[in-house]
Amino acid sequence: MAIAENIKQLQLELPLEVTLVAVSKTKPLEALEQAYNAGQRDFGENKIQEMTQKFEVLPKDIRWHMIGHVQTNKVKYMASFVHLIHGVDSLKLLQEINKQALKHQRIISCLLQVHIAKEETKFGFSEAEILQVIHSEEFAALKNIKIEGLMGMASFTSNKTEVINEFTNLKNIFDYLKPYQTFNCNFKILSMGMSGDYQEAISCGSTMVRIGSSIFGERNYTKNQ
Ligand SMILES: *Cc1c(COP(=O)(O)O)cnc(C)c1O
Repeated sequence: MAIAENIKQLQLELPLEVTLVAVSKTKPLEALEQAYNAGQRDFGENKIQEMTQKFEVLPKDIRWHMIGHVQTNKVKYMASFVHLIHGVDSLKLLQEINKQALKHQRIISCLLQVHIAKEETKFGFSEAEILQVIHSEEFAALKNIKIEGLMGMASFTSNKTEVINEFTNLKNIFDYLKPYQTFNCNFKILSMGMSGDYQEAISCGSTMVRIGSSIFGERNYTKNQ
């Protein structure tokens, strides 16, 4: 029951223009069903195999978000159904997504992940690298992907000023890229904010928050992040 209440609470709290992605990684099917029954349709997973297994048995109107780091050789498993890939961090990965999307005769929506945190371990492009990618000939040839925006993760810190600085940085990059629109590129989604920092993210202009533990409870951190 708690899951449904958490979802309803967030639905009331979040501004209308902010999409809630319920991050269900490591959680059992029953947990996702409870969220689904409370009206939740956007779910985020960080492992392709786990997402695929859940996709196969859960209702088909769920929109599946891949929020984790994507290995090129696994794109094929989700290419038929994934709704949005948040963590795109190389041209090579975009090319593979394009290839697999073409096989399924669809266009796969993607977000470019931007490295905004101080920590070395977080994946992502710099602003300069994004400009390089989207202006390249290779990118212009990709007809089965669409860049719909940016995704970022702030540093894992209790220092809210630092978190706000990092989100503001990402919002500035987003605003800078916004006018750049082509057939495969239209920056309109800004995916930032998790359980610990979504309020700051929204105040900095987030349009999509990825919330896990505040909905489903804590995960087993020895296994996952
Ligand atoms: C796990 C995860 C989340 C959700 O984290 P919570 O702190 O549980 O809300 C959000 N984004 C990404 C990329 C994640 O891997």
